[in-house]
Amino acid sequence: MNKETFLHYATLAVPRYTSYPTAVDFVSISDEMRIHWLQGLELDQTVSLYLHIPYCSNLCHYCGCFTKAVRRKDIIDTYADIIEQDIRLQASYLKGKPRVIHLHWGGGTPSLLSRKSFKKIMQALHETFLFDAAAEHAIELDPRTVRQELVSCLAEIGVNRASLGVQDINPEVQKLIGRIQPVTDVRSAIRNLHAVGIERVNFDLIYGLPLQTQQSLRQTCETVAAFQPDRLACYGYAHLPKRRSNQRLIDVSLLPNAFERFKQIEVVADSLCRFGYEAIGIDHFARPSDPITIAMHEKKLRRNFQGYTDDDSRVLIGFGASSISEFSQGYVQTVADINQYRKAIAVGRLATVRGIIMNDDDKVRATLIGDLMCQFKVDLSRYGGKTLFAVELERLKTIIADGIAHEVNGIISITEVGRPFVRVVAALFDRYRNHNIAQFSAAV
Ligand code: SF4
Repeated sequence: MNKETFLHYATLAVPRYTSYPTAVDFVSISDEMRIHWLQGLELDQTVSLYLHIPYCSNLCHYCGCFTKAVRRKDIIDTYADIIEQDIRLQASYLKGKPRVIHLHWGGGTPSLLSRKSFKKIMQALHETFLFDAAAEHAIELDPRTVRQELVSCLAEIGVNRASLGVQDINPEVQKLIGRIQPVTDVRSAIRNLHAVGIERVNFDLIYGLPLQTQQSLRQTCETVAAFQPDRLACYGYAHLPKRRSNQRLIDVSLLPNAFERFKQIEVVADSLCRFGYEAIGIDHFARPSDPITIAMHEKKLRRNFQGYTDDDSRVLIGFGASSISEFSQGYVQTVADINQYRKAIAVGRLATVRGIIMNDDDKVRATLIGDLMCQFKVDLSRYGGKTLFAVELERLKTIIADGIAHEVNGIISITEVGRPFVRVVAALFDRYRNHNIAQFSAAV
């Protein structure tokens, strides 16, 4: 692929496809729809739960999450009370206690919750759901907050996987992104987690940050691989300052260009694979014995809002401002404004604002796009055959000519060089994708 073609694809704005339809395609939807879907859940249906804590001590300059900077503990405690009510309210519409196979605390910085708040929320969950003995209980952690007192609380409430936001270990890069985090903090976070029996650890890294180079990223990978996390995810920094005011603090002149970004993720993949990790999808890496690697080889890997997962539950119930729930019928999202969320829950409403009712076509395309994102391959005969996708196949011809994919008898495979551009191929099958393009990040 020549440089011009590469730049064309690398700079196309395409969704990350953590869901299909994507969240920007959600429309206005009512509480009644969510209630109807909650009431329809069968008791033998396993569920995953997501809790969103939208607070941080400070905002990192690069952050694209839905979160707010707060210093006052009472604000966070009050929010925990609302989440507890949200749990009880949504659970009141269920037929009984569904079995939970996955629980995830995300944010924001969930570790800002007090011990009392963690316990209160868990008590509400245990009173309303049944937890599978083998359930994964994961939490996103800022390594700077992982003190002994916190980890003992996490162990007590049953956390068994921690996802540490490491991002980059270079002090100069850290200064420019507003996140000073000495590598000793990462080391002591792991030590503290292991000391209480939380052995499963993931790291999140970011490429495409100001001042990062291929060399600095190689150094970051070598340093973090020495800590032997089970999994790593390395996301491309998405600079969207019109939507995220904190990103205006990023010095654009120091950001790597599209070609350099591509080289950086290549370096990350090469470095981590040298340390024995296997590449999972577009941006995850895991040890060969890790369940997510096994799921990939068994073609059971799935895409969800946390990236790639081996979680096979088809139902996700979200709690907290901006959280998204997934049902077989579609998606619903809670209002992002914390005040509106608080007021709605206080009067017994679920604060549902957006979502989408999936039609049959959406369901087919969701699975098809999932195949592409997880396996880099899709067999159109599973989805009704080539004739149903004549328009997409016509548009695919240019992509095939550019060496990104090939197609034989309705089986579309992404080539080795085309893997970083799989989202571009997925977008061909996205019925909603002729608008809103500017809201997405570049393909690489
Ligand atoms: S990157 Fe993490 S710690 Fe930083 S502002 Fe965003 S959610 Fe908070």
